[in-house]
Amino acid sequence: MKIETGVATDIGKVREGNEDSYLVEPPLFAVADGMGGHRGGEVASHLALDTVEALAEQGRGTLGDQVREANRAVYEESQRDRAVTGMGTTLTAARVVDGAARVAHVGDSRAYLMRAGSLRQVTDDHTLVNRMVKAGEITPEEAQVHPHRNVLTRALGTEPDVQVDEIEVALMDGDRLMLCSDGLFGMVNEDQIQAILEAEPDPQKTADRLVRAANRAGGVDNITVVVLDAHDDGTADDGPEAAGAGPQPTRRRGLLPWLLGAALAVVLLAAALVGARAYVDGQWYVGIANEHVAIFQGVPAEPLGYHLSHVVEETDLGASDVLTLELYRTLDQGINADTREQAQALVEQMRKDLKASDQPQQAGVP
Ligand code: MG
Repeated sequence: MKIETGVATDIGKVREGNEDSYLVEPPLFAVADGMGGHRGGEVASHLALDTVEALAEQGRGTLGDQVREANRAVYEESQRDRAVTGMGTTLTAARVVDGAARVAHVGDSRAYLMRAGSLRQVTDDHTLVNRMVKAGEITPEEAQVHPHRNVLTRALGTEPDVQVDEIEVALMDGDRLMLCSDGLFGMVNEDQIQAILEAEPDPQKTADRLVRAANRAGGVDNITVVVLDAHDDGTADDGPEAAGAGPQPTRRRGLLPWLLGAALAVVLLAAALVGARAYVDGQWYVGIANEHVAIFQGVPAEPLGYHLSHVVEETDLGASDVLTLELYRTLDQGINADTREQAQALVEQMRKDLKASDQPQQAGVP
């Protein structure tokens, strides 16, 4: 089995940074969609993929084990570095060996299989709306436009341990496997995705066209697409050499942004120590004041006991309620925001998520 690959990632039309990452390192392929503020999102998605890649290179464990190890790495980094507190990421990875793709998955990025003219989603979204669809409360069409469609029920790096879905797909000649972040299918419906997958035979051009379609539809999120075309060339594929045949794989190295993030944290601390309040005051986060959710200006750190933040707005939202939501469990350590508006939007999202989290429970969803 020979695998030909195409990959494209794009910031989209709205976001200020690209928090998606991908890995195209045959026979290993993955996409990750980071979250937790600008820096946190980038660090989380890159660290997760770097960890999986490093373990795969050493041949340690199954893909599932490698993803669980990546969870621990992201979780530990988020505990260690307050600048990336609360970060997490999705991760959908495929390892193609012996004519089969072993898929490991956490979150709401997706793997699709295009076979003989029909498109099938291989992975299950770990989202609130998917739970609601399964419980028969809303239709898949309603889920597509639901205001809480971004609320994850499972993510990588937000807990010390994570449950990883593992799926095996036996590949046939002509199969097309696609990994993508929600910036694609959130913008482009599956009929359109299928039409592009059918119309364009070249995997790289397919990835580019899918990204263009998402941008034309608004591009409100980062978009990442990895396309894998399986061709039966009569050879047994026993490892990286066989699977790596085809165009020279490309990938985005993950270490640099991560180092930049760490360097920025050091600069921030140094700036704080010399009293450079101007820089610190350009930072925002959402935390807790008087047992309520509050917006802070500054950074959630107190080097040498020097307060580097102050409350700008105390909301009526109870901190203990918000802390029950998986997504905001690090609220007590402060969740970073790029601007005051973003901090306010985060508070509004907490309010909505809190409401949404009540609904399925009342309807009897576990
Ligand atoms: Mg996304």
